[in-house]
Amino acid sequence: MPALIKLQDVHFSYRIPDTDPVAALAGIDLEIREGEFVALIGANGSGKSTLAKIFNALLVPGSGYALVDGLDTREKSSRPRIRAAIGMVFQRPQDQIVATTVGEDVAFGPGNMKQPPEQICALVNSALKETGLFSYRDRASYLLSAGETQRLALAGVLAMRPSCLIFDETTAMLDPAGRKMVMEQARRLHSSGHTIIFITHLMEEAVQAERIIALH
Ligand code: ADP
Ligand code: MG
Repeated sequence: MPALIKLQDVHFSYRIPDTDPVAALAGIDLEIREGEFVALIGANGSGKSTLAKIFNALLVPGSGYALVDGLDTREKSSRPRIRAAIGMVFQRPQDQIVATTVGEDVAFGPGNMKQPPEQICALVNSALKETGLFSYRDRASYLLSAGETQRLALAGVLAMRPSCLIFDETTAMLDPAGRKMVMEQARRLHSSGHTIIFITHLMEEAVQAERIIALH
């Protein structure tokens, strides 16, 4: 399988005015192949979330480079395609919910991608079915349980049809049943051909991946 993501000697520092830069990544080389299921582990502050944002071009390396599907994230014109290909599910799903009802929320991403209405409707319905939320589509998004909110955040990402999904400590705020459900979703998406990058601090989750990348 070809490399979906390739990083070469990536360095990244956060720059905040009037303070010293905070080094988050130094000299990262790695490749993630299409269709792989990778776990990404490391202590708090080791740079996992920063790395995830480098993968989907939310952040651009300070030096070195990141290629996604052969596209260089330093090229501004490539970023919309990269962001559509690499979907992110965050730790606090409520930050990812933007609309009042479940269905409207899932429609937000495809709506932004200027898809025709029938196409948006099809994408929304299929994302809701994939996450078991189809019968919830007219419900208020703020009334969902933590596990359901996490599934809604995933549905919103799936509606944009990414080829790769990054789960950034998605299970951290969930109970064991909720965590199990997220892992099952990740495995199912992997079986259907998606590349999965699963960021976790739980070894029992990391060992379910095909490969573990540890950040130090
Ligand atoms: P992890 O996800 O592994 O906990 P992060 O990528 O969030 O690690 O953070 C890596 C380093 O970058 C840490 O030292 C963190 O404090 C710093 N950092 C993360 N986000 C920011 C930010 N927005 N501004 C400044 N420093 C940040
Ligand atoms: Mg993090």
